[in-house]
Amino acid sequence: MDMDAAPTRQQLRGAAVVEDAGGAVAHFDAIVLGAGISGLVATSILLQQGCRRILVADQYGHVGGNHIDVAVGGYTFDVGSLIFQDDSPLLKHFPELLPHYVPIKPSWGRLNPQGVVTAYPISPKADIVDAGPIEWCRMLSSLLLARAFRRKLRNAHDFARYWLGARFLHRSGLGNYMERFYGAPPETIDIKFAEKRMLGISENARLATHIRKYLRRAPPRIKNTQLARPREGFSALYAPAVKRLEAEGVSFALGVRMHALRKEAGGFALDTGARVCKARRVVSTIPLDHIRQLCGLGREEKLGAVTLITLFYSFAGDRGFPQSVLYNFSYFGSWKRLTVYSDFYGRHAGREYFAVEVNAQHVGGETAVADRDFRAHVAENGLFKGDLRLEGRHALAHAYPIYVDNAQENLDRTIAALRAFGIESIGRQGAFEYQPTARDTTLKAEAALALRPATSP
Ligand SMILES: Cc1cc2nc3c(=O)[nH]c(=O)nc-3n(C[C@H](O)[C@H](O)[C@H](O)COP(=O)(O)OP(=O)(O)OC[C@H]3O[C@@H](n4cnc5c(N)ncnc54)[C@H](O)[C@@H]3O)c2cc1C
Repeated sequence: MDMDAAPTRQQLRGAAVVEDAGGAVAHFDAIVLGAGISGLVATSILLQQGCRRILVADQYGHVGGNHIDVAVGGYTFDVGSLIFQDDSPLLKHFPELLPHYVPIKPSWGRLNPQGVVTAYPISPKADIVDAGPIEWCRMLSSLLLARAFRRKLRNAHDFARYWLGARFLHRSGLGNYMERFYGAPPETIDIKFAEKRMLGISENARLATHIRKYLRRAPPRIKNTQLARPREGFSALYAPAVKRLEAEGVSFALGVRMHALRKEAGGFALDTGARVCKARRVVSTIPLDHIRQLCGLGREEKLGAVTLITLFYSFAGDRGFPQSVLYNFSYFGSWKRLTVYSDFYGRHAGREYFAVEVNAQHVGGETAVADRDFRAHVAENGLFKGDLRLEGRHALAHAYPIYVDNAQENLDRTIAALRAFGIESIGRQGAFEYQPTARDTTLKAEAALALRPATSP
């Protein structure tokens, strides 16, 4: 990726380019910072709202944001487990994506603390029935205690203990998984974040939910189709959308270093070094500390975000489980989740291939430690018996936000400062919000940008 490249005149072909005393200045109706799902959806909405010339600028050299794939020796891996659906609202903005996805039939499993690969996220049989009468009593009494002596729920641990009971949390391994996911003890995670992330727990733990479901006897839900990106990678998926947007007057400036975003009479000026791009409206989807710095708004205390290490493996032998996605709920092992891509795209040279996600914090940021730890842990649990080869690795900062140390107050202050400056900051990074799916990201972008009346520049 060329971080210093400035957008060329060709890249800015939708813009009116004029020479100022200080160099070339390109004029747009709006600038979108970040070409991830939020940036693409924002661009689509701005077009609907009457903007004609839009600049999408990203320091990444590709479209799709953190939808990142890595090709190594004939294998294509993703950074994470990225699965989509054919009823996603994203496809209303970009219907041309649909034929490029690969329909898949994934299954999800989890390695539990008893060393069994079982249902994800919870298995009534493995977690309750098989536990036996002594465990039943322990789990029930710890749940009743948590409910009877309810205290103020202050963090993720309080939340899960209240709804499931401490014993179940421990026996199922959910408590261990939470720590792997957050990168910090659940006791330090803000209750607001826990409520968003673990909504399913509280809903499913309510007896009333199950009674309602039973009484309603709702007709079976129409099932959607699960999708993966094309085998060649995300660029093959997003290229048709980029092409159409360009035909509608959108310019993409990828791999650019942004130096400053200044406020001027009538709008903003984005300085990319060799060129200045001006617009009345700016929508930002890049990490909050980046946009704050770009606008010269000074440094707030840094918001916590997980750095995700992804290890890429190929394998020949007996992997020991049938599911395409496997979560680590056991008491040991740093790895969090693995995704077997050869289940979606077929084997390469006779070998299966998969990616393993590890929270960098748990391995001191060292991929070698992550690799050693993964190998030792799967061997202990009888998984991946055969030839396991590490093909590559990737580290992603800002993989997802983590709410610790009064993050909400810090976040509110930052968003308020950006709003006062005139920037609309949205998305997983720009709103510092846990948005688990492209579906959720699309709906949130629509809601955030619809609040503003249509602008006819
Ligand atoms: C590991 C992982 C697994 C996921 N699994 C799924 C899934 O299965 N299904 C699904 O629908 N969604 C999944 N998502 C989430 C979903 O895709 C996101 O909600 C969506 O991509 C967010 O888009 P965004 O544009 O808001 O943010 P992002 O794509 O996160 O980022 C927007 C922009 O911010 C900037 N940026 C971000 N990170 C950095 C960085 N480290 N350094 C510099 N600049 C940066 C870039 O300019 C980028 O274009 C997953 C996400 C991750 C990280």
